[in-house]
Amino acid sequence: MNVLASGFHRASQNQGTLESARNKVRHLLHQRSSDLFPYGHAGTPIIEMAEQLLRSDNIIASSWLICMRCKNENDRAIDLQTCVIQCLDDSACTTAACLQKKLINQHPSRRCANCDSAVNQITKFEVIPKIIVFAINHDSVKVSRKICFNNEETRVIFGLKGIVYTGDFHYTARVCVDGNVWFHDGMVTGKICKYEDKLSAFTDSNLSTCNGKTLSLVVYAQK
Ligand SMILES: [Zn+2]
Repeated sequence: MNVLASGFHRASQNQGTLESARNKVRHLLHQRSSDLFPYGHAGTPIIEMAEQLLRSDNIIASSWLICMRCKNENDRAIDLQTCVIQCLDDSACTTAACLQKKLINQHPSRRCANCDSAVNQITKFEVIPKIIVFAINHDSVKVSRKICFNNEETRVIFGLKGIVYTGDFHYTARVCVDGNVWFHDGMVTGKICKYEDKLSAFTDSNLSTCNGKTLSLVVYAQK
């Protein structure tokens, strides 16, 4: 992600192009896995790409199980090193609800080793990331324009920054800047984004689809 961000910064200073920033990242990803990230016209799975770009060397969040009755904790913690949250269960209905379910949710099958009661899976951020990305494969998931949660004493607020849509082997995007929504389809408008409307004019559900394409990634940044 640093490579991409510094490439974008150079482009903003007229010291490079967005394409050269993209090509550098593409080359690095291809070196990591030539199967997942091939050169040429073969497609790249965008969720895998987001996972790779937003991977950290540090632990971002930890997950563990806690009994709802006796509060016995399972010490088998799972550490997460990516800012990508998989939202693959359509019952979560909104991205905000998907994050809530990730932070605390009843485990579907595990029971407490102590008293055989149901257990909750808890996830806690070790470091609050600046960016959170949701990977989604259901168009029934609605896009929250804002996501808030409490981390210990602090209230953390994330604002919607962009949405990537997929369909017919092609990705398009909506980009949110200062409360305005811009649409981008590289095959139609090239480098140009088309102004759509104020973000406040969109409902959660009409952000879920875009010209017949469905949600793939939803990107938030800390306010
Ligand atoms: Zn128990």
